[in-house]
Amino acid sequence: MQVRVNDLPLGGKSFSFNVEINSLNDRLSLAREVAPDNQRLSPSFVFAEPPTVTVHVELEGITVFVKGETSGNYKTQCARCGEEVTKNTKTEINMVLKPLSEERKGEQVEDINFGYYDGQMVDCGEISEEFLILSLPFIELCQEDCKGLCSECGGNLNTEKCLCSQKPKTDSPFAVLAKLKLQ
Ligand SMILES: [Zn+2]
Ligand SMILES: [Zn+2]
Repeated sequence: MQVRVNDLPLGGKSFSFNVEINSLNDRLSLAREVAPDNQRLSPSFVFAEPPTVTVHVELEGITVFVKGETSGNYKTQCARCGEEVTKNTKTEINMVLKPLSEERKGEQVEDINFGYYDGQMVDCGEISEEFLILSLPFIELCQEDCKGLCSECGGNLNTEKCLCSQKPKTDSPFAVLAKLKLQ
């Protein structure tokens, strides 16, 4: 969703569109790959259908303001039991863009609400992708009190009732430790 800034009327213009889903999911898996090692086990997130976007784009002098919101359904796995869950995310878009020619060399901008455009076009799809990705949680649970999996038989404790916790744990290597503690 490219917007030519010189075509914008005074007071800006509103746009409604859908985010291109393949590009969004590609970026999402890439973002996961560069995540630190200790997050490697975090669940994968995939958008099942193109998220919707409504934005107002306005040019003031050389600065472009992009404001609006985006929402979409995504699939991921419960961090405890591994079941697939579908959730909705809805987030505000708020972006201030300066022309690239204004960029100072070596300057690192950490502000997620600030960026640059090439002086002519603003890619509202790309901006929306970024805000959608940032809106996702680190982990997701299928339900707040998900019981997870049994550490012994691997059964889903939300749906199965296994007897593992009632069995005496004689064959467990930890049984030895338990006995040691008693002495
Ligand atoms: Zn679960
Ligand atoms: Zn069990």
